[in-house]
Amino acid sequence: MAEAAGDSPSHVDIDVAIVGAGIIGIAAASFLQDEGRDVLLIDRGEPAQGASFGNAGAFAFSDILPLASPRIMRKAPRWLIDPLGPLSIPPAYLPEILPWLIRFWRASWPDRVRGAMVAQAALMRLASREMAALVAAAGLDGMVRSDGSLELYEHEAELTAAMPGWDARAQEGIAFQHVRGAAMADLQPGLSPRFVAGTFVPGWKTVSDPYDFASALAARVVRRGGRIARHEVAAIRPVAGGVALDCRDGRTITARQAVIACGAWSRPLARALGDDVPLETERGYNTTLPPGAFDIRRQLIFGGHGFVITPLSSGIRVGGAVELGGLTRAPNFARSEAMLRKAADFLPGLKTDGGRQWMGFRPSLPDSLPVIGASRASADIVYAFGHGHLGLTQSAATGRLVADLLAGRAPALDISPFSPQRF
Ligand SMILES: Cc1cc2nc3c(=O)[nH]c(=O)nc-3n(C[C@H](O)[C@H](O)[C@H](O)COP(=O)(O)OP(=O)(O)OC[C@H]3O[C@@H](n4cnc5c(N)ncnc54)[C@H](O)[C@@H]3O)c2cc1C
Repeated sequence: MAEAAGDSPSHVDIDVAIVGAGIIGIAAASFLQDEGRDVLLIDRGEPAQGASFGNAGAFAFSDILPLASPRIMRKAPRWLIDPLGPLSIPPAYLPEILPWLIRFWRASWPDRVRGAMVAQAALMRLASREMAALVAAAGLDGMVRSDGSLELYEHEAELTAAMPGWDARAQEGIAFQHVRGAAMADLQPGLSPRFVAGTFVPGWKTVSDPYDFASALAARVVRRGGRIARHEVAAIRPVAGGVALDCRDGRTITARQAVIACGAWSRPLARALGDDVPLETERGYNTTLPPGAFDIRRQLIFGGHGFVITPLSSGIRVGGAVELGGLTRAPNFARSEAMLRKAADFLPGLKTDGGRQWMGFRPSLPDSLPVIGASRASADIVYAFGHGHLGLTQSAATGRLVADLLAGRAPALDISPFSPQRF
């Protein structure tokens, strides 16, 4: 990589520099290449080793309800009592996360919930369309399972409590079917009798393995002439004729335009550009059991317990949970084990030996919406981060919107709800 001559480059090293080679950066590169743009993906590590490595692999297009909601606020105190439950906050991190929690609480008010849901539904419609196009163009249909998901309820009261959420989805045109008895057992044989009902969502899809999927897309970026370079970017700044990226190894890379797609680590880069975005991380945990640990027919969702089970080519992945614990604390894999124990109760006969544990950093905003938009400092520096639980699902839509923004076109949908300046 050539070094920049100074702050006013007469030429730039690259057309578009994308910082962060997770699924969001990789998808952005893919859509920019469709328009003939020359892209450089920059990551401090190998591609797709962050949150995009070990997630649950779902294209969760029906997941339009924001996490911040009156329902979650009612459940949260009970969840927080259990240190290994679906939601936890290490006490020492509480002072740091408090401002984010206050914003989260405000985002749970009914007026905000409705707005967030409408914005999320619009993004999901684009996500479904653009992901289908990307998968087809990349020839990755063989990596996508289209067998839907099954959410499970232990009590009638749990289903009743979920009904307003399903009604809201119905209003957005999302198909689903509540099931019981034999219909439920057909969708997933071998469930514990403690589950009295379920909801089948046919439009939900999963990938064979999220790392394989992201890697295949990254390999396609390279095949189409894109480059991947290993640097840690310390700062990005507008310069005459483009953008300069200062790397920790002392290099400066210049580009016409840049994208910040550093997932949970994006906050300092945005702050230096004048955008103090309240990005936090929701740490999530899982265990991937060897293939054959159970005959899982489709993704199973245990909403009351905050985890899912996904059949992958690499095995059976059991996990989820939210730990608001920041970016530096060591993982607490007792969380993975707690979910595995529950999974064994829910699926009697599940073989729990030989699993691989993993923890990942979801990049999360308090209103459950991502940040997609231009920086305050320059229209040539665009943000694409903060997708929380839905980054894989929304990666292609984000790529489409980033390409629109950098081309100076009206974006494919109203992006004001995702503005970096909304806070
Ligand atoms: C347990 C769990 C389950 C999940 N399940 C799902 C699911 O089923 N479906 C779904 O849609 N989403 C799911 N998610 C969320 C999803 O994984 C994330 O939203 C998504 O991976 C975020 O992608 P990203 O590219 O923004 O970030 P990442 O994948 O974290 O990538 C960010 C990249 O930026 C790089 N980077 C950071 N700082 C710098 C820097 N300064 N310089 C250079 N490089 C830098 C990192 O090395 C990293 O490679 C899940 C997450 C978890 C934790």
